Amino acid sequence: MDAKYKNDEKNVVVDDSKYSMETHLIYGKNESVKWDYSHHVVAPMSTSVIFRLDSVERGAEGFQEFANTETFGNNDPIYIYDRFGEPNKDLLEENLAYIEKGETAVTFSSGMGAISGIFGMLCKSGDEIVAHTSLYGCTYSLLNLWYPRYNIKTTAIDLTILDGIEKVITPKTRVIYFETPSNPTLDIIDIRAIKLIADKFNEGRKESEKIFIVVDNTFATPYCQRPIEFGADFVVHSLTKGLGGFGTDMGGVVIGPKHYRDLLLMVRKDFGAVLGTKAAWSVLTYGLPTLHLRIQRQISNAYKVAQYLETHPSIEVVNYPGLKSFKFHELAKKQMLDFDGNFAPGSLIYFALKGKDYPEMKDNGRRLMNYAAKNAYTLTLAVSLGHTRTLIEHPASMTHSAMPAEKLMEAGIHPGGIRLAIGLENPNDLISDLEKCLKAIL
Ligand SMILES: *Cc1c(COP(=O)(O)O)cnc(C)c1O
Repeated sequence: MDAKYKNDEKNVVVDDSKYSMETHLIYGKNESVKWDYSHHVVAPMSTSVIFRLDSVERGAEGFQEFANTETFGNNDPIYIYDRFGEPNKDLLEENLAYIEKGETAVTFSSGMGAISGIFGMLCKSGDEIVAHTSLYGCTYSLLNLWYPRYNIKTTAIDLTILDGIEKVITPKTRVIYFETPSNPTLDIIDIRAIKLIADKFNEGRKESEKIFIVVDNTFATPYCQRPIEFGADFVVHSLTKGLGGFGTDMGGVVIGPKHYRDLLLMVRKDFGAVLGTKAAWSVLTYGLPTLHLRIQRQISNAYKVAQYLETHPSIEVVNYPGLKSFKFHELAKKQMLDFDGNFAPGSLIYFALKGKDYPEMKDNGRRLMNYAAKNAYTLTLAVSLGHTRTLIEHPASMTHSAMPAEKLMEAGIHPGGIRLAIGLENPNDLISDLEKCLKAIL
């Protein structure tokens, strides 16, 4: 465990290893050798893109040091230019690596910036990706619209069914990629089991030919799940969601082995998806220190809302990892755990309305959304998740509207399916608004 230094009293070291994750996220490395501001209680926001170098020799050293952390270490960095690195991002990255139980973190301008960053680092022309059938929409289009142009092929397979996976892995496979819980139906994928499969294939493979497991942990947040503990090589996040928590800034991060930090920094430098200092500062100052409080409240709200929905006669199915009736409940109990090992089933609920046929189910979903948008104080019709307000979305009409109802069903997306991203409200208000909407449309 790293120690916490006090800049103004050199050599006075506070051992932070005895403190809990919650406390750590408040204090972090906010006093850091990276930046001399030891009398600020809150880290200041870096406002300069460029840094004075004092001498050509110092400049040369800075350029040599960049993306060369193994040789040079990063205790006292020479900052040059924001896209190479600056203190706010460094401070945030230390905390993000710590909370995800990874060795290093590199931030990006958005979740998609981070996702294209990790694929950009791991894959080249001719390589292949194996991905779960249902993915975040832009990840899906990155893999299926853009990467074929670079001769990178993606094979989609249901990773909840372990049997078929080995058949789609080839010598060219470089990445197994998935979200768990997945968007929007909250499928849970067994990270340990995927790791065993990857290990089997990786035996005897060179580092450059290895298969890496990359998990998008945005839905769970590290509060509910740390995939690296179960064998994932890399974790990606949209900081725009639960980690940022307030819906004010976009951001992304890749967390993984220290060995890859330099390459990730190079990818970020040259592809240019750099996290802004203001966004880094917001996540560091507001998002992380309040994460445990926000997610705890969202989980307790989600439990109550899911239990209410489950007993409603007009609702066909409720997917929430915390419900005993959920298909993946037992698996969720094994991998969605908070820092103290308690079951932490997250803040997203997916539920579906009944109807006499597919068109009616879809129409019921659409009408519920429209009624909620106008009449429910606590249900905001909007994409995104992990924010202070509860957000409601209808995949069949919005994110997945191009698919006919039958095709939606084939993909496991119910035409009447609704995604609820639970916020911090009083749960009784959420339930009474849902009740009001259901009554009005049925
Ligand atoms: C939002 C989201 C992303 C993309 O993140 P941005 O910050 O919007 O680029 C990726 N994966 C999941 C699961 C998301 O919810």
